[in-house]
Amino acid sequence: MYLPKIREIKEALTSFFSKPYTTKFPAEGLKPVEDFRGFPRYHNEDCVGCGTCAQVCPAGAITVKDEIEKKLRILQINYLSCIHCGQCEEHCITEKGVLLSTEYSFSVMDKNDASILETVEKEILICEVCGSMIAPLDQLKWIRERLGAKAYAHPNFLLNIQREYFDLEPSYAKSRIRREDQIKEVCPKCRHKIVVEDEFYAFNR
Ligand code: SF4
Ligand code: SF4
Repeated sequence: MYLPKIREIKEALTSFFSKPYTTKFPAEGLKPVEDFRGFPRYHNEDCVGCGTCAQVCPAGAITVKDEIEKKLRILQINYLSCIHCGQCEEHCITEKGVLLSTEYSFSVMDKNDASILETVEKEILICEVCGSMIAPLDQLKWIRERLGAKAYAHPNFLLNIQREYFDLEPSYAKSRIRREDQIKEVCPKCRHKIVVEDEFYAFNR
């Protein structure tokens, strides 16, 4: 007959009277450590809508959708794809637009459940000439603040500043764009066209 050794009896008795290492989840929640990598959450006031988080996400869990008609950029994290790597937080240009929370417990019965998505919406600036997206307004403001007085050198930033103080009428695209159309909110492609077409119009006729 196998007789337990003294060491085994000691271990059994110690385990019997000591606190278990495991938790009684879900009856008792686990208290996460301070830098626990839970679900990433957007912080609207600090997110500028640049989309860097979507570019660096290795799991492809973040999507960026630009709705030109509504002038909105919609960023969404799908928690079903998120692997909690923390790359979005690490590469966020404002350093606090998206932060990993300590929330970890999550279950749904339907994959279309809205709680699997974390969303942030940002107003975007549209090119007055071609109608394409230039950048989210918050991102322009963020860059502007870093440029300081130098921001006045660029028409997009200049108009962006003026719009904070006045209700400027939007200008409309003409059949032929001219150098004076520089003072419009236009995308880099159209700005290039304004300069080149005005400069070389005579050669193109
Ligand atoms: S934690 Fe990682 S996987 Fe999850 S959204 Fe951020 S970058 Fe993507
Ligand atoms: S500011 Fe940060 S959270 Fe917002 S879109 Fe850019 S990288 Fe993502």
